[in-house]
Amino acid sequence: MNRQSHTDEPGGTSLDLATVRSLFPCLQQQIHGNPLVYLDSAATTQKPISVLEAMDGYYREYCSNIHRGIHTLSERATAKYEDVRNKVAALLRAPDPRSVVFTSGTTEAINLVARTIGRERVGSGDEVLISAMEHHANIVPWQMLCEEQGATLRVIPCSDEGDLILDDLVDLISEKTRIVAIGHVSNAIGTVNDIKRIIHSAREMGALTVVDAAQSVPHMNIDVEDLGCDFLAFSGHKVYGPTGSGVLWGRLELLEAMKPWQGGGDMIRTVSFEKTTYADVPLKFEAGTPDIAAVIGLGAALDFVNEIGLDAIYAHEKELLDEAVAKLDQVSGVQIVGRPNQRASSISFVLDGVHPHDVGTILDQKGVAVRAGHHCAMPLMKRFGLVATIRASFGVYSESEDVDSLVEAIDEVKVIFR
Ligand code: PMP
Repeated sequence: MNRQSHTDEPGGTSLDLATVRSLFPCLQQQIHGNPLVYLDSAATTQKPISVLEAMDGYYREYCSNIHRGIHTLSERATAKYEDVRNKVAALLRAPDPRSVVFTSGTTEAINLVARTIGRERVGSGDEVLISAMEHHANIVPWQMLCEEQGATLRVIPCSDEGDLILDDLVDLISEKTRIVAIGHVSNAIGTVNDIKRIIHSAREMGALTVVDAAQSVPHMNIDVEDLGCDFLAFSGHKVYGPTGSGVLWGRLELLEAMKPWQGGGDMIRTVSFEKTTYADVPLKFEAGTPDIAAVIGLGAALDFVNEIGLDAIYAHEKELLDEAVAKLDQVSGVQIVGRPNQRASSISFVLDGVHPHDVGTILDQKGVAVRAGHHCAMPLMKRFGLVATIRASFGVYSESEDVDSLVEAIDEVKVIFR
């Protein structure tokens, strides 16, 4: 794949967008007679051909179960699967691939932490701290844990601009705080949170830290050592990989000390009716046959991302986000929800007098795919006095024309509702 350099912008790079876009079969189609304008990458990204071929290759050429077989196909599949662990470790700058656990996605990864070390560490009277802009996947598992253990869920508030208010962090994090679980980037309004600061405060009080990186891994470089977190979760399908693939990274010494959560094949060393001993990490947390094809597809997705480079992806998307904010601000009746200090991935807005679902439905008629609803962040919607917004979200293949199509389609919605 080609990447062109901007010689006029020091250090800047731009993507060869035509080539990038040509790698995504799903983008090459018309919806209701209009070219597809895909602005829903925060929900899931489209998949490049290399990912589709990697999955197809597994099913056509070496379909077999992993870790157990001694035959050639199984050895090939196991080697491919385990190589993806190395790729994920490299992506997260994690020193040891054994600290990478494959899950079905961010949701499963967070539930794994809540149900294992969460149950061990959180007791009656303790506190778990999250933020006002979490996705339900980073609220409900902690709420369930708190209910079960008699603990209290506390929340870092959000400003009118859509930034977390961190001035009172010292009051929010105390010796009662056992876990701090924070989203890196808000899927609903695009805020990039200062998670390093939050992690630092949490660690000072001895709390475990969990990062929901579902919306940051696809857009920016992550270094788990530099962040200083204990756990970090992301979903393969939001980073150009298949659905069914996801990752929990955890500090090795914590993972080693944790009890398994699901029992079954592959996670054991020995089983008798009297006693079972468990496999070492990470297999201890990977009971049963995983989604092998999805993990192999995730490996191809990470190769794709690495080839372009997350710095280039971030720069490209930032340019588009800035352009989209500027152009949406020019559209009368459009109110952007949240003006965070740093934004990645998404812009949420409402259109005066028209329900977001109606906007979304009419945009779809024009070929423009956006998300309309609460974005699995109902408490954040409530914070802004809304029940729903329209969300446009970007990926590496998004282009300036997509922003123009969005604005034109909104103008047409306004004509219909005039
Ligand atoms: N956290 C965030 C911030 C998300 O955006 C999402 C997906 N929308 C999730 C968690 C849950 O991811 P998944 O459904 O892939 O498990």
